[in-house]
Amino acid sequence: MNENIYVTRPSLPPLDEYVEYLKQIWDSRNLTNMGTFLREFGSELSDFLGVEKCLPLCNGHMSLELLLQAFELDGEVITTPFTFASTTHAIVRNGLTPVFCDVKEDDCTIDPARIEELITDKTAAIVPVHVYGMPCDVEEIDRIAKKHGLKVIYDAAHAFGEKIKGKGIASFGDASMFSFHATKCFNSIEGGCVALNNELLLRVYQLHNFGIMDEENVEFVGANAKMNELQAAMGLCNLRYFEDNKNKRKKLFDLYMDYLSEIDGISILNYKEETVDYNYSYLPVFIDEKKFGIGRDQVQELLKEKNIYTRKYFYPLVSDFNCYKNRLSKGNTPIAQKLSGQVLTLPLYSDLAESDVDRICNEIKQIRRSI
Ligand SMILES: *Cc1c(COP(=O)(O)O)cnc(C)c1O
Repeated sequence: MNENIYVTRPSLPPLDEYVEYLKQIWDSRNLTNMGTFLREFGSELSDFLGVEKCLPLCNGHMSLELLLQAFELDGEVITTPFTFASTTHAIVRNGLTPVFCDVKEDDCTIDPARIEELITDKTAAIVPVHVYGMPCDVEEIDRIAKKHGLKVIYDAAHAFGEKIKGKGIASFGDASMFSFHATKCFNSIEGGCVALNNELLLRVYQLHNFGIMDEENVEFVGANAKMNELQAAMGLCNLRYFEDNKNKRKKLFDLYMDYLSEIDGISILNYKEETVDYNYSYLPVFIDEKKFGIGRDQVQELLKEKNIYTRKYFYPLVSDFNCYKNRLSKGNTPIAQKLSGQVLTLPLYSDLAESDVDRICNEIKQIRRSI
């Protein structure tokens, strides 16, 4: 029987490199609260991402929640429903109202042509998502935001290490956050960071430790979003291998492209490799039931029978979640709805073998032939 292939697998550094850090942590007994490794990680990240300031936090979700809190927003936030739960939850947990905008068919990111019709006098910000590491139309979003005086806070959870025309992806908008969760292309076990080029980092810094300013002064209703030293050490180790891992994924990605271009009824997103440095962390494909012969759900089941585990990222749309029923307007997002019904995310991670990509693609071809 063939071995199981999962949609992703965390990358780990050589164990002895991590153990070196652990020894120092044991010696110092400094486990958390702005330790040495945390500070070192923050400064390496800001160099790597090409932003002025970067603060690593306990996870990506709290990074987004605290960023939104730091901007002291009020009212409505325009975002998309084609994303992970975290994006919308962070908006709602800040007492803000998400307004769902449709996405573009060729890359699943927010459609700038549909933003302006959603702007009201209550709109405070736009929270676009670089979903699957596909960069949003940052220039057009910037133009609209400036015209209407809105903040732009990017959910860049999927876009770690990416560049647009040579510029770090976090240099766009008012702020960005990344996720370093184990399943993301770069991990610190759990973790994340905020990246900004302005004064606001200080406020996020204050908020991330309960809003405590000093022994006697608590100035803000903050949270606990601190990254600990074991996470920071993992981040420091993994960062050294990011480029290598990315190159491995790029090779697998190209191999997938060769195969998938031959299969009728399966399409992929529009990658603009001339202008964008991608991190190749996801491989979403879209199955057109009419052309392929069977729908996405059946393809997923048939692959599972062959021990190949794919995911329906992102189905259902956030706007269809039970927790938002009768609470939020679903908006008018026919493209997001359609893509969500067709998408299947195939396995892609740096340690995936080329022979596994062969196996996955041959199974898909086989399914297609047998219909
Ligand atoms: C993973 C993810 C997050 C949250 O990151 P965590 O580190 O898991 O808290 C936010 N937004 C998107 C789009 C994500 O995929």
